[in-house]
Amino acid sequence: MVGIILIFALLYVGVMNPDYVTFSKNVFIPVTNVCRNRCHYCGFRRDPDGAEAYLMTPDQVRTLLNKGASSNCTEALFTFGEPSELIHDALAGIGYLNLIEYVADLCRMAIAHGLLPHTNAGVLSYDDFKALKPLNASMGLMLETIASVAAHKDSPSKSPRERLRVMEDAGRLRIPFTTGILVGIGETHEDRLNSLMAIRELHPRYGHIQEVIIQPFVPKQNTPMFNCEPPSTGEMQETIALARRILPPEVAIQVPPNLMSPNLSVPYGASDLGGISPVTIDYITPENEWPALETLGSCVRLRERLPVYPHFVLDKWYGAETEELINKYADEDGFRKC
Ligand code: SF4
Repeated sequence: MVGIILIFALLYVGVMNPDYVTFSKNVFIPVTNVCRNRCHYCGFRRDPDGAEAYLMTPDQVRTLLNKGASSNCTEALFTFGEPSELIHDALAGIGYLNLIEYVADLCRMAIAHGLLPHTNAGVLSYDDFKALKPLNASMGLMLETIASVAAHKDSPSKSPRERLRVMEDAGRLRIPFTTGILVGIGETHEDRLNSLMAIRELHPRYGHIQEVIIQPFVPKQNTPMFNCEPPSTGEMQETIALARRILPPEVAIQVPPNLMSPNLSVPYGASDLGGISPVTIDYITPENEWPALETLGSCVRLRERLPVYPHFVLDKWYGAETEELINKYADEDGFRKC
């Protein structure tokens, strides 16, 4: 079965020629790098007592929001380690009892700056999602892989079952949702297929998956996987084609352009470039700069979207407190107004 689907995917290769490729303009806000997990490929996380550990203060977040707003961005992308109780003292120091209360206030701050929040805060409970949904245009969590890989053996919240539970809770709450897989962390071809199949099986129950990111592993210094090979271009293209073949057409396939050129990903089925920031770096892979929009525009025809995909804009799935901004930014098709 796996072989047959792979052959179908490869037959797909080279036939994709979309009218346009979408992206959103964002400001990337890495709220904390403290994380209870130790993914073997991660160069971002820090222990809470480490010299470089931080929790951004409201003033630091405000500075980035101001930059994003003055650069014509529409999206505030909030990302986190998975700090759990580890940052309790840091939160108390800025007047918060828990992370969700702080995230909710940061989302309100983003909205006040004219930016639509997209929060990716790791494994959340149903109640956490319920609290954050009204304040977010969309939310996300990478599935990464359905397989048990050695790279996750020190990462309790990377349980595939738990992450599917999170994605299901988001669906029950009708939250437009971004997920994705990480390619090259020790999983097999069959694992990639099974991960994509798991997303495909979940989506029809709720209809909430807006995009699936196909992200290549990038070796990072001072991590256990520094000497591991990243996936080849061919492996990435095969996986993109597989995803396009397996996932429903309304689910976009996103490949970040700082990790793989659109010239190499779009012909295989990539239809979205994700958030591209004119003001902040990719804090997760800082060594890979965002290409300039002018450069990307010479490879593919670009169409700007909001952090919530057009069909969810038209169906009003976004958080209630983002509605005013969405009405301001969206055109009649749900894309960003020119
Ligand atoms: S990849 Fe995410 S969950 Fe894993 S260690 Fe890094 S910050 Fe934590």
